[in-house]
Amino acid sequence: MKLLKLSIAKSWLALLGLAFLVSCSDAPKKIAFSGSTMGTTYSVTLFTKDPRYNESEIKRKVDIVLERVNAQMSTYDPDSELSKFNQFESTEPVVISRDLERVIKRALEIAEQTDGALDVTVGPLVNLWGFGPKAKPNNQPSGSELEAAQQRTGYEKLRVKNHQLIKDVPNMYIDLSTIAKGYGVDRVAHLLDQLKIQQYLVEIGGEVIAKGGKPNELPWRLAVERPVSTERAVQRVVEFKDGALATSGDYRNFFEENGRRYSHIIDPATGFPITHNLVSASVYTEDTMSADAYATALLVMGTDKARSFAQKHNLAVMLIYKTEDGFDEYISDAFKPLLTEQE
Ligand code: ADP
Ligand code: MG
Repeated sequence: MKLLKLSIAKSWLALLGLAFLVSCSDAPKKIAFSGSTMGTTYSVTLFTKDPRYNESEIKRKVDIVLERVNAQMSTYDPDSELSKFNQFESTEPVVISRDLERVIKRALEIAEQTDGALDVTVGPLVNLWGFGPKAKPNNQPSGSELEAAQQRTGYEKLRVKNHQLIKDVPNMYIDLSTIAKGYGVDRVAHLLDQLKIQQYLVEIGGEVIAKGGKPNELPWRLAVERPVSTERAVQRVVEFKDGALATSGDYRNFFEENGRRYSHIIDPATGFPITHNLVSASVYTEDTMSADAYATALLVMGTDKARSFAQKHNLAVMLIYKTEDGFDEYISDAFKPLLTEQE
């Protein structure tokens, strides 16, 4: 009897083993697609064993999520929730969606932490310099135009309270361009989490989040671009299984006038586009919205300040700055584990 029990137990074990083998041998299927959103492109790559999932079904869901973020945060859509708030020239509180609340709260936290280097109220200055939804100006804005725009900016004039948004100056204009892509990535990641997809990479315009690595314990591999506008070249290859990476740079989006280059990143302290030697800032952290916001803030700070900020806050940061004969990098200790062995 005892023997029989044992042999039954053994065969159960064998069966279990077989089931395990079968489940291991059906490798996860790869689903990858791309599309356009927020004036740029997005891409999603994922691995799943769930037979119910197919590309068109997941893409449809992803597009719904992105359209929603766009309808909330785009300054290019005059009917978006944010555009409506910008058009509402009043200091009365306005009830806002939870998404908008979350993004503006985080933007204000990072504004405080970075001493206003990140400031989502720079909209009037962005527009004045021709990097907003309207056409580019022909000349550099005048002193009085700059002064007027500066009076309408300042993150400390914007507050979120009881799910309501309040501006202290009626004609403020909020520009979430620097954080919305990152937030869109996080929302798509959230959707995939809800669908119980455990291995994915989501990217919008270069801002990415990864989860679970790839099959066979492999990390996701990504390239950080060399900051040149003439070609697309790789500066560094980074690898990680989980986490978000965002890069802000002034090498692709700028205009030139009389041989001077005007970046689309504005230093809120001066009202002028940044001009220093820092050309690219990458930040790796948990969520893409924060990575995106920090990357912009570091670019505003310039190399020295950005370096001390990264050290002080133990942020994983890679900075690329111009030198007389090319480019140099600063890689914070927290960023080093992402670099691949061969470099
Ligand atoms: P990219 O991903 O192309 O580098 P960013 O994410 O850095 O772009 O966002 C750039 C946009 O952010 C600008 O086009 C402008 O609308 C806005 N912006 C510019 N300067 C600032 C700033 N100091 N703080 C917040 N937003 C800014
Ligand atoms: Mg960015």
